[in-house]
Amino acid sequence: MVHKPILTIVVPCYNEEEVLPETVFQLSEVLDGLISDELVAHGSTVLFVDDGSKDATWSLIERFHASNTFITGLKLAKNAGHQSALLAGLLHAKSYSDCVVSIDADLQDDTSVIREFLVKFHEGFDIVYGIRQDRSADTFFKRATAQGFYKLMTSLGVKIHYNHADFRLMSKRALDNLEKFQEVNLFLRGLVPLLGFPSTQVYYARKERFAGESKYPLRKMLAFAFDGITSFSVTPIRFVTVMGFLLFALSVVAALYAIIGKILGANVTGWTSLILSVWFIGGVQLLALGLIGEYIGKIYKEVKHRPLFVIEKALMESARDVDEVPSPLKQPAGARR
Ligand code: UDP
Ligand code: MG
Repeated sequence: MVHKPILTIVVPCYNEEEVLPETVFQLSEVLDGLISDELVAHGSTVLFVDDGSKDATWSLIERFHASNTFITGLKLAKNAGHQSALLAGLLHAKSYSDCVVSIDADLQDDTSVIREFLVKFHEGFDIVYGIRQDRSADTFFKRATAQGFYKLMTSLGVKIHYNHADFRLMSKRALDNLEKFQEVNLFLRGLVPLLGFPSTQVYYARKERFAGESKYPLRKMLAFAFDGITSFSVTPIRFVTVMGFLLFALSVVAALYAIIGKILGANVTGWTSLILSVWFIGGVQLLALGLIGEYIGKIYKEVKHRPLFVIEKALMESARDVDEVPSPLKQPAGARR
């Protein structure tokens, strides 16, 4: 291998005190193995992004940082949401890494797959998508809604990888370009395919959460799906336009029918149909207005160019240029919990 890359594994965490010790342990082991097999360089680390947790997450990160050379941390000043926290970590890590892997803190994604990501990176791929092959660990409801969502996105013309969440590897080059997307309505798994660098997929089985509860209740999931659709597709607006045209054509026909009926002296008995159509048109108009309003709301947010996150503190490795040091100065495996 000609060049050993510096890898950073970015892990967004929101109230993850229950899983964190195990996550630190598993990811340290993965990094340890990758370094000894010369797939990544010394100085590769795990970056935990604390997304304004209310529990002991940050103090745990600080503790692990003190005892384990692999562990670094980033503390956001307040809860920014999964996507923003992830972006904070990615852009932070980009400045000192050759490639970055993003993974959830809850160990649902198979950490051993990271090695395959690196193999693909060495083969020259800029982006490696982790694809869930098996969702049997998810509840039926989660599985059905998630898959319905992927299908809907695809049919609306959004390029998205079926069954891929945010478990992926990205090269520095890809991240440099991701940074140019100044989006406030963040939907990373829709943005990354837009980059278009050489990319490939790696399959794995999705597991159950190691500990703790999902930080994505139905309300957040629906908001996320809605964001994904309205941030990437104008099909809903086009649908409204088409419907408007059809209704207009229909109303011309209906008007002709009414006028001819009047001329011929037919009785005006159509109160029911009249009142029905008033309601119907009113409903359609409200729907259309609502949808247009959604997009205007988005434009409003984008125009403001607010920063997506504020970094409060960063714990960095003291000597980053340790590429040629034969082994970690402190022994990471000794500091598991
Ligand atoms: N997360 C976050 N900020 C939030 C919500 C979640 O950083 O506001 C993190 C969370 O700690 C986890 C990842 O995002 O590492 C995915 O969340 P979770 O596993 O709860 O979602 P699910 O897998 O149930 O969809
Ligand atoms: Mg999860």
